[in-house]
Amino acid sequence: MLVLTIESSCDETSAAVIRDGRAILSNIIASQIPVHQRYGGVVPELASRSHVVDITGVIEEALGTAGVELKDIDGFAVTSGPGLVGSLLVGIETAKALGFAHDKPCIGVNHLEGHLTAVLLDLPELERPAFPYIGVIVSGGHTDVYVVRGLGEYELLGRTRDDAAGEAFDKVAKLLGLPYPGGVVIDQLASTGNPEAIEFPRPMWTRKHFDFSFSGLKTAVLQHVEANGIPEGQALSDLAASFQAAVVDVLVMKALEACKKHKVPRLVFSGGVACNSALRRVSVEEATKKGVSVYFAPPRLCTDNAAMLGPIAEHYLQDETGFDAWDLEADANMPLGKSLRAKSKGR
Ligand code: ATP
Ligand code: MG
Ligand code: FE
Repeated sequence: MLVLTIESSCDETSAAVIRDGRAILSNIIASQIPVHQRYGGVVPELASRSHVVDITGVIEEALGTAGVELKDIDGFAVTSGPGLVGSLLVGIETAKALGFAHDKPCIGVNHLEGHLTAVLLDLPELERPAFPYIGVIVSGGHTDVYVVRGLGEYELLGRTRDDAAGEAFDKVAKLLGLPYPGGVVIDQLASTGNPEAIEFPRPMWTRKHFDFSFSGLKTAVLQHVEANGIPEGQALSDLAASFQAAVVDVLVMKALEACKKHKVPRLVFSGGVACNSALRRVSVEEATKKGVSVYFAPPRLCTDNAAMLGPIAEHYLQDETGFDAWDLEADANMPLGKSLRAKSKGR
């Protein structure tokens, strides 16, 4: 099956062509970072306007790079939530229009399902995690731990009670006067810093549950800066490394605890923070000691992109039931679960 996937939930406009839920024929991403950078975060109204401007060109480029035409596409899939409602609507209405015009099914999929299963793309069979695996989403809006038993089968074990991990990176970067988005900048600074320079708290350091909290850690960084001023040079790198180590320690400890409790020796990190080099290094080191295999999608598939919808889109599109109306709508707070799929089929 040849599927065109569209993602516009936040500030990336993306379209991809995926064959059989596995092979990425193209994955075009138009980032809006320059649009939002001077505001230090995503401005929803500007995001939806940029999607409107970019989406047609992004889809044309995705088709061109894949060497296919719209008439070759067997089905369309689009992120229908969670995300910014104005941003989501641009992708959804575009996907519906394409499905209607070409008389092909169009399906709405959950952005988080995309993050959780992106690791199944493009890898040889032996390098892909088998089900079940513990799936940890660490992104700009989420820090969730799931048991992933199969495509569409998830059990939530815990999540953040306040800020998401990526949000903590972005907010700490902002208070250090670093550019948006902050995660990648902190990662770079931390590479030459001492992670033991400052002892920041490891919030929710307990094996009793799988919930997280990152707002107190952010406050601890703020208090450090208020007391000592914004550091420069080596001291800035040390602060970045110390903050990053606190986040990574909690994520890795909890994730491995989930593997142990549920007797699942496979762990997948996904979402933008899964690009983080310390998270990648420390999780592999610690997991190896415990006999757990860790899997990461390549960084370009961890941050928002349309290709990540490929495996889950193929799975739902293969299921022929339930294509009844053009009722696909945006759901800004869409939870992960079985009844999420709004589907619609051609004329
Ligand atoms: P959600 O998926 O929850 O709706 P989102 O789509 O905005 O949120 P993603 O695109 O998955 O989030 O991830 C973006 C986040 O990842 C940002 O907070 C960014 O700072 C963070 N991030 C990206 N690269 C790195 C890195 N190398 N280290 C740490 N954080 C990173
Ligand atoms: Mg983004
Ligand atoms: Fe995301």
